Amino acid sequence: MKPVDRHLADILAAVRPLAPLEVEIEAALGAVLAEDVASPVPLPPFDNSAMDGYAVRAGDVAAAPVTLPVIGDVAAGDGGLIALGPGLVTRIMTGAPLPAGADAVVPVEWTDGGTARVRIDRPAPPGNAIRRAGEDVRAGDVVLREGARIGPAQIGILAGVGRRRVLVRPRPRVVVLSTGAELSEPGTPLGAGRIWESNSFMLAAAVREAGAEGFRAGSVTDDPKEFMDTLDAQLIRADAVITSGGVSMGAYEPVKEALSPLGTVTFEKVAMQPGMPQGFGVVGPDRVPIFTLPGNPVSSFVSFVLFVKPALRAMQGLPAGPPATVRATVTAPVRSPAGKRSYLRAVLTGETVAPVTGQGSHQLAALAAANALIVVPEDETSLPEGAEVEVIPL
Ligand code: AMP
Ligand code: MG
Repeated sequence: MKPVDRHLADILAAVRPLAPLEVEIEAALGAVLAEDVASPVPLPPFDNSAMDGYAVRAGDVAAAPVTLPVIGDVAAGDGGLIALGPGLVTRIMTGAPLPAGADAVVPVEWTDGGTARVRIDRPAPPGNAIRRAGEDVRAGDVVLREGARIGPAQIGILAGVGRRRVLVRPRPRVVVLSTGAELSEPGTPLGAGRIWESNSFMLAAAVREAGAEGFRAGSVTDDPKEFMDTLDAQLIRADAVITSGGVSMGAYEPVKEALSPLGTVTFEKVAMQPGMPQGFGVVGPDRVPIFTLPGNPVSSFVSFVLFVKPALRAMQGLPAGPPATVRATVTAPVRSPAGKRSYLRAVLTGETVAPVTGQGSHQLAALAAANALIVVPEDETSLPEGAEVEVIPL
């Protein structure tokens, strides 16, 4: 059987970052920046008032209380033409440019609020309530680096440095297709021998959580031709495809039957539990990466965490490798098959981790109750209560 780490390494060697694309900043949420972004101007661009109040020469108010003539108003958006002579003040609003000659702002709360003359009750030191040009960003400073994930604050600074468009690696478009003659759409009645289809919903959501776009292509029966026709129709909009089911050792394995003859998808047994039957390769004229995951819901979920999520990071131009782990003490003895790495569903609380009841690869409710996977190495068949284990937080 193929080691887990080698399977991931093969996948990461095969996937490429998506080509960068220029998009409007409104469309950049969740994408990864593909350029360094610098500010063409200092931010703030000019010295301005941090408060509503009076622009003064600090020396004129050092002996406060004082009463001084108000020679005008400066509002936010004014061109900043007023110059302030000795002994004079102007009213000034938050964000308004500081008049030449002024070196402090007295907040309106320290005054009587006068408009022709104003009584100033407290002295203001030089620089008081002034936001200096360039104190956030200097002209030419890089404010965002290539590889940064673009969230709301990053869209804010893009706009703040005057950008309308930005170069990003787009969110990969990932089509999720389930196979199985037994599958019924949730929300429809359940016939004899059937189960509600869950994998495409779960995997499409996992794709979205990983920063990509997940599209459910629904499910097809176990007819290889139907599978292939649906896959062909979906390929035009896909940067990657995830399938579930139809890759085991039984009869009626449509994914294996349809893709094996192409010679571009490899089906293997990976030394892990759950999730042993795995397939990976490329399909279509554009050689779109395809992950053929096993059908058992927990197997497909664990396979996504171990193999697909890192690949989606690589496609976004982000550093990619095995999922991060923490160490914790296990609260109950655990078992694992010899020669396979186990990923046991568990609840991680601080420094302890408790396996959940129901470790079958079909036990989706147990997965939903878990927030972590305990990793049991290939060469261990059991670990006692109190053992230190490696844990993948979910
Ligand atoms: P397979 O890998 O196709 O042999 O399926 C393994 C098990 O997973 C079977 O019990 C299937 O019924 C179940 N299964 C396969 N696909 C799905 C799905 N999309 N949603 C829920 N269960 C599934
Ligand atoms: Mg099946």
